[in-house]
Amino acid sequence: MANTNGERHAFQAEVSKLLGLMANSLYREKEIFLRELISNASDACDKLRYSAITRPELLGDDAALAVTITPDSKSGVLVVADNGIGMNRQELIDNLGTIARSGTEAFVKQMAETQDGGDGQDEQEGEDGLAAGLIGQFGVGFYSSFMVAKRVEVVTRRAGEAEGWRWRSDGSGSFSITPEADAARGTRIELHLRKDAREFLEPLRVRTVVKAYSDHIGLPIWLENESGQKEMVNEGSALWSRPKSEIDETQYREFYHHIAHMPGDPWHTIHLHAEGRIEYTALLFVPDTKPFDLFDPIRKHRVRLYVRRVFITDECEGLIPPYLRFMRGVVDSSDLALNVSRETLQNDPILAKIRTGLVKRILSDLAKRAKKAPDAYASFWENFGAVLKEGLYEDAEQKDRLLPLVRFQSVSGGDRWLSLDEYVEAMPEQQEAIYYISGDDPAALRRSPQVEGFRARGIDVLLMADPVDQFWLPTVGAFKEKPFRSITQGASDLDSFPVREDEKTEMADAAPPGEMDKLIALVKLTLADTVKDVRTSGRLTDSPVCLVADEGDLDMHLERLLRQHNHELPVQKRVLEINPSHDLTRALARMVGQKGATEALEDAAHLLMDQALILEGEPVPDPTAFTKRLSGLVSRALTE
Ligand code: ADP
Ligand code: MG
Repeated sequence: MANTNGERHAFQAEVSKLLGLMANSLYREKEIFLRELISNASDACDKLRYSAITRPELLGDDAALAVTITPDSKSGVLVVADNGIGMNRQELIDNLGTIARSGTEAFVKQMAETQDGGDGQDEQEGEDGLAAGLIGQFGVGFYSSFMVAKRVEVVTRRAGEAEGWRWRSDGSGSFSITPEADAARGTRIELHLRKDAREFLEPLRVRTVVKAYSDHIGLPIWLENESGQKEMVNEGSALWSRPKSEIDETQYREFYHHIAHMPGDPWHTIHLHAEGRIEYTALLFVPDTKPFDLFDPIRKHRVRLYVRRVFITDECEGLIPPYLRFMRGVVDSSDLALNVSRETLQNDPILAKIRTGLVKRILSDLAKRAKKAPDAYASFWENFGAVLKEGLYEDAEQKDRLLPLVRFQSVSGGDRWLSLDEYVEAMPEQQEAIYYISGDDPAALRRSPQVEGFRARGIDVLLMADPVDQFWLPTVGAFKEKPFRSITQGASDLDSFPVREDEKTEMADAAPPGEMDKLIALVKLTLADTVKDVRTSGRLTDSPVCLVADEGDLDMHLERLLRQHNHELPVQKRVLEINPSHDLTRALARMVGQKGATEALEDAAHLLMDQALILEGEPVPDPTAFTKRLSGLVSRALTE
């Protein structure tokens, strides 16, 4: 490295790894480094503009915020400069030495996966996209400079501070920082280009790249030639402020990448100008993939708030409700005060009105897409359905807009996502409730013993496999006057439904009621300490037994969830239901009252209970006793 004076700092380990990847990359989309540097410059100008609302002296006589790109073919250096907020020494160390965002870990993991994915050159095509996406998504944009530069120098001075600094690195493990006299306010990135990247010294090439990726940037980007002439190479106005008719798909897409830090395409774009009592413009996107922090407990959205083109904050909680936190984009209001404090914004009545307007529009767009393109909607639902459902109990006002948007898998629906309307439509006439079963794995739910009787009668059962379902179900209660009813809770009301003809042959005759009653009395007596009740069941066809929660008790899945989250719960005794048509229970029923059969029947009672627990995916409380009883019973059967 040219200068070995000054302080040396080691890069954070993840950064070193990343830089190694950048420097040796075969990615063809090297040009994205320019997009990333311009995006940073634009953020820096946004930050200065915001600070200058309360401290106008920060702008001084250099108020025309802009980005200037200067290629110098003699020295082989490309400069990207801005007169934005700049960085002080500590900020330089923090921002250009680590990966700052919370997603560092996730990033390194994905990076490793991408790397493993293919080092074969023929696979370049696929890799390009991923790498470029990753760079934007995880806020590691600055480091992409090392895809084209063998050395990067950053000269910067923080607005309002006197000292300037020069940061230098060749991208191999460390960087140095030295004081820099006469640094201008803002940041100058000097890229000492590698031989194979000299194309970025050609004005035409630079112009094309800026146009393609950064045309939407709301401040002028100047390209300066070697004789000092300047030419503006972008539109220079914020994309959202332009009329829709003048914006094409690719511009929306690039803006989405810039604002959302997401790879891929927007799944849906909303560009709206609200006029009337309150005026605002919004350019919002629904991503086509899940952001890695979607289920972060903080549940923050990432929609940026501007007031008359001035960036105010991307942490304005009241702007978008948490259940729409997957939305990305900007909202620009001309009614909020420019000097509104980020703290009081939360309770601003104008903001509340903007939020209501946005929520309505987002939900009505979702409804339209659901109707027009159910398949595309299914992919939206798979990404964000679990988040949207949070609105069912958090936003009572929108409940009626949200319920028709919700989709479910069901016992007999295969891969199809059903709406509640479709479910209700297909209900047999005498069915009065919307049946569901809760658990965490749809495949396991479909195999549950409790669904057998429903399947046999052609009654579909919705699968509630997201933890959030346990929260909205009790709040919502019913849809179109049909109550939601868990099939693992309370008595089953199946007996009034006819069994389907093709299932009848499989359902053997039930044991005579007298015999079965005696068996039930015996099982009840034997298991008195562990179960709340024992009764026959219409729920079962193939399995001999199942467990259900008593009416009014906690649903079993909810109980498990609560225990997993360390809630203290009193012991919940369940109801053991017995299939009166099963060979095993019929044989047992016949044994009741026979001489010397009591011991075997008591063992059988315990075994029935243990089986029911196993079917629920729960541990058998006493495995030793279970094994003993099972061996005893089997050997008796074999020796008789
Ligand atoms: P991101 O922009 O997603 O935060 P980057 O790697 O692109 O990630 O940049 C890291 C950080 O470095 C930025 O968040 C910012 O704080 C700082 N930074 C980068 N470029 C500039 C610039 N031109 N002016 C001021 N700060 C900058
Ligand atoms: Mg960046």
